[in-house]
Amino acid sequence: MDYAPTSTGRSQKPILGGPIGARAIMDGRAVIVLGSNNYLGLANHPEVIARAKEALERYGAGPALNPPLATTPIHEALCAALARFHRTESALLFNSCTSANVAVACTLVGAGDRIFSDRLNHASIIDGCRLSAAESRVFNHADFAHLEAQLAEPGASRKLVITDGVFSMEGDAADLASLIQICRRHGAALVVDESHAAGVIGPGGRGTAALRGCEGQVDLVTGTLSKAFGAFAGGYVAGPAARIRELHDRGRFFMFTTAVSPSAAAGALAAVEIAMRDDSLARRLAENTQRLRAGLAKLGFRLLGGDSPITPIMIGNEEKAAALSRALLEDGVYVGAVRFPVVPRGEARLRAQPSAAHSTADIDEALAVFANVGRNLGII
Ligand SMILES: *Cc1c(COP(=O)(O)O)cnc(C)c1O
Repeated sequence: MDYAPTSTGRSQKPILGGPIGARAIMDGRAVIVLGSNNYLGLANHPEVIARAKEALERYGAGPALNPPLATTPIHEALCAALARFHRTESALLFNSCTSANVAVACTLVGAGDRIFSDRLNHASIIDGCRLSAAESRVFNHADFAHLEAQLAEPGASRKLVITDGVFSMEGDAADLASLIQICRRHGAALVVDESHAAGVIGPGGRGTAALRGCEGQVDLVTGTLSKAFGAFAGGYVAGPAARIRELHDRGRFFMFTTAVSPSAAAGALAAVEIAMRDDSLARRLAENTQRLRAGLAKLGFRLLGGDSPITPIMIGNEEKAAALSRALLEDGVYVGAVRFPVVPRGEARLRAQPSAAHSTADIDEALAVFANVGRNLGII
């Protein structure tokens, strides 16, 4: 089947001609992909693809029933694997982490309760807070004195603190050890969105709680299947069985929307199993991140982050960031530019994300392109 290479929306969006790996075909050319969420390189892993195909053949496109009405053994096995991965009792699948975050904010707290959200949390958490009947408070990024002052205000029955594990535009990881202490002092539950962290950071890639030495101490975890776990559409919540049952029985954005497809569930399950049995991928990813960061810093680029593979390259000017991204692509390296309104005006950046799929030679080749393009544009 041939498809016309056209795109709707933003005209400069590259058109993919094949799967994402260390490289991908973009606009008809093979380029090094240094800006995808394919952290472990599992999006095109033979075992992941084979298991997804098998499930597509066994179950068809989907059950055509909403998730409270029917499930498959594949979905149940994926829930069990995700619960095991996060060392929690139970887990529930959603069609995205966006849905999972909204469901948590709208189901587990309500009128008379309060949600406390880090200013740099993902858009889906902000939307969840807006849709929730609970009052919401926003604390300055990683400013725990600010959070504690808000938690100490009287008048809330239940309190829920929600944070990204890894912040997607800054690349820093939340200080969960401190957040756990604070939540205990104030009788608040802690929810951590591990979308950019699960499979990615900490010992064995087990996430932010593992990185900070507090596994099993977070009340609820939300996450996505669309990043390290094979890049499928889907999300989840993991936590104590009673909370998970509540989300299953009452959660909007679970009950009234379609489920993860059987093929996506099977492929993601394969990816979670690979991540759990083989920590060499997470180690390879950490090595690639180290090499890329050291190389970019040596060239004179200004970097943020450091706790995760997300490596923001700070440019400032919006047009300059777009020009750098375009020039890199022309010379064979894809790294997306992040501009206003995603980040504040004047804080435009490129967001480099290495993958376990890259070889040392891939990283070095990309660095050479960065050196050329950065000098040509007068950025370094
Ligand atoms: C990517 C991301 C999401 C969205 O995940 P989807 O499954 O694509 O909805 C949510 N939260 C965070 C922190 C993310 O990075």
